[in-house]
Amino acid sequence: MTDNRDFGAPASDRRVDQLFDGIGRRFEYLRLSLTDVCNFRCTYCLPDGYKKPCSRPTELSADEVRRVVTAFARLGLWKVRLTGGEPTLRRDFDEIARTVANVPGIRRVAMTTNGYRLAEKAAAWRAAGISAINVSVDSLDPARFAEITGHDRLRQVLAGIDAAQAAGFDSIKLNAVLMRGINDRELEAMVDFVSSRDLSLRFIEVMRTNDNAEFFAERHVTGQSVIDRLQALGWSRLPRQAGAGPAVEFGHEHAKGRIGIIAPYSKDFCSSCNRLRVSSLGKLHLCLFGDAGINLRPLLQNDGAGDELIERIRKLTATKAPAHRLHQGNSGATPHLASIGG
Ligand code: SAM
Ligand code: SF4
Repeated sequence: MTDNRDFGAPASDRRVDQLFDGIGRRFEYLRLSLTDVCNFRCTYCLPDGYKKPCSRPTELSADEVRRVVTAFARLGLWKVRLTGGEPTLRRDFDEIARTVANVPGIRRVAMTTNGYRLAEKAAAWRAAGISAINVSVDSLDPARFAEITGHDRLRQVLAGIDAAQAAGFDSIKLNAVLMRGINDRELEAMVDFVSSRDLSLRFIEVMRTNDNAEFFAERHVTGQSVIDRLQALGWSRLPRQAGAGPAVEFGHEHAKGRIGIIAPYSKDFCSSCNRLRVSSLGKLHLCLFGDAGINLRPLLQNDGAGDELIERIRKLTATKAPAHRLHQGNSGATPHLASIGG
């Protein structure tokens, strides 16, 4: 992929290389968490809501975000997803989105949100340079949505999706976590919803984290059972695009939308992993289910540390484990996905 935007850029912005790990996986995509705070209480993530610790370090500033994204862009990453917690709780979210979109080499800024502000902000976020948006919608039934998230806001979130379509995002995806006995019977209704709309739907397997082991054991629905149900509805698997991430995509000749399945417990899920994560405190996480992150923040304090930062990222990435250890019952050090950015 050629990037001509860094042509003539100052030395500190120039692209130096591409980023690979020790088994040849290439990284082009950074997930950047802007906060671990969330206003929702999703049953699989923060069932008791966000608990403020006694002393909480401050989140990365817009300048620190610019420096870390610049370093990754110089290593060939061109897509950044802003996530959290709920990233849009940050007052400076629009400024950060603009900052990231203007980093030389970054060609796509995406975000993941629970959608609570989407109806009022979709146009502003699009104008700030965000072109792809994922919105979590675990139920199309207002009462069940409230039960899962702790907020009676389905109508508001659906209005947000309409606003996102009107604002002209290139890609709008709905994320749905299917849970046994809670919303798994809604699969058909969700499929119908995207069949008539130009939207993508992502079914995400509930992932086990340190805090939700019991919930996981009770509610986990396998990706394969979702695939079987989709195929029974006439959906078929689409060929894998070059450079695509771990989602398995499905299409239907009569449907406008598409469906993807994110099934981390499936065989070979890790072999196509193209993601690296940086937490809102500036820690690099090589795997969602890895050990505690590695602190990059000391190298984010001024513009002069760029080369050292790049070298550190390159060396650390080379050590990324080939696969997670979920099958051995080991979900790493992650208490919940809000803590490092799902
Ligand atoms: N708050 C935003 C939201 O909910 O879209 C962004 C952060 S959230 C951690 C990102 C995605 O991770 C959401 O789609 C959410 O459903 C998913 N998620 C969170 N915890 C999960 C878990 N334990 N298993 C599977 N998906 C999870
Ligand atoms: Fe918040 Fe997103 Fe976690 Fe739900 S999934 S509690 S919206 S961070």
